Amino acid sequence: MTQSCPRACPPEAAPSGYITSLSVLPADRPRRLAVLGATGSIGVSALRVAAEHPDRYIVAALAGATNVALLAEQAAALRPPVLAVLTEERAQALRALLPAGYAPDILVGPAGYAAVAGAADVDVVVSAIVGAAGLAPTLAAVAAGKVVALANKESLVLAGDLIREMARTSGAVILPVDSEHNALFQALGGPGLPDLSLVEKLVLTASGGPFRSRPRHELDRVTPAMALAHPTWAMGPKISVDSATLMNKGLEVIEACRLYGLPVSMVDVVVHPQSIVHSLAQLHDGSLLAHLGPADMRVAIAYCLGYPERLPLSVSRVDLVTLGSLTFEAPREKDFPCLGLARRALCAGPSHTVVLNAANEAAVALFLEGGLPFMGIPAAIEAALCAHPGEAVPDADAVMDLDARVRRDTKDWARKRA
Ligand code: NAD
Ligand code: MG
Repeated sequence: MTQSCPRACPPEAAPSGYITSLSVLPADRPRRLAVLGATGSIGVSALRVAAEHPDRYIVAALAGATNVALLAEQAAALRPPVLAVLTEERAQALRALLPAGYAPDILVGPAGYAAVAGAADVDVVVSAIVGAAGLAPTLAAVAAGKVVALANKESLVLAGDLIREMARTSGAVILPVDSEHNALFQALGGPGLPDLSLVEKLVLTASGGPFRSRPRHELDRVTPAMALAHPTWAMGPKISVDSATLMNKGLEVIEACRLYGLPVSMVDVVVHPQSIVHSLAQLHDGSLLAHLGPADMRVAIAYCLGYPERLPLSVSRVDLVTLGSLTFEAPREKDFPCLGLARRALCAGPSHTVVLNAANEAAVALFLEGGLPFMGIPAAIEAALCAHPGEAVPDADAVMDLDARVRRDTKDWARKRA
């Protein structure tokens, strides 16, 4: 890489603390939820959590993109007064599927998602749209001062500083749904915490994905079906491919740094194939505080939806004796370059993480369509980072403008390469 994508990090700032204050909602009435990305893996899990505690949650809004059949089914069961979908056509299709006597407002497109996220009668926004499309509604929720159960890690990768700044003014509370960050939040939580002055480093665990033990020369030939077959987690297609390339862990290093205001040198990654230890915090007395649990996102989601209370949940229990052993190993960073690319983008500055994310989303989509080999994904991202001189990204428009340019350039790069 050239000078625009540095190998070494510049001098680091001191930890600046958790992204938002952790004030929470009054517990004297049910919480009103808006679920963005309701038809996806996280959205469905969030609705299952809410269904276990019908006295505590009211589903006030559901937003999906194109799967109107599932959205209609969810809406018919829960009867939220507001729904949102991607296009006018889908809105009509959705309305036709709803039961007689139930006529919710159906909002459309990015403006519709933003309206759902910022609606006055919503307390908690589950931000679970995949990719950069999740940024605008996440910002709308933060601007409106909501409690945001944040699954859409791409928001922090694209605009972590902006989110921190907006939350400071609005009073929004960010609670991390991503299992590693949720694990850290649980390990470090409690009244008065997280106290980062005690923390030497955070250790994010990674399953290693489906190709953890596959030799480097075979990675050139792996197919989308192989990449989508995650060994421990059931997830949407984009994050499954990110897990196979280790970009998911790269995005999560950025997410951790931006959530906790930490320099990149304080966030390590360790591969833990059983996905039972969900991450650890190493403290200044040598202690490691970890969170263990089943590989089921409902645990993390429930912690966010109930925060600061911990509600009972009908997930499977970890049987340590049956499991026998928990193992840990170093990530194969040379064979899976995305993790290092993410760290270098983080060091290089805020516009570089926008470039990283956009090139990754474009490359993953091409890989899934058969237009790029698996190892073309890190190559595309490296090319995009090296071509990027850095620029100011002061607001969401600047971020999305850069995102669109990088997606276009990445498609051109792949076309020329083919
Ligand atoms: P998914 O593909 O299963 O679901 C994505 C959801 O987003 C769907 O409801 C879809 O309709 C909606 N969507 C897609 N494009 C959209 C657009 N342009 N506008 C509006 N909505 C759109 O994805 P997922 O696995 O549920 O992941 C969602 C987010 O949560 C991602 O950011 C992912 O990184 C994060 N996350 C997921 C998991 C997991 O276990 N699945 C774990 C941690 C974090
Ligand atoms: Mg994760």
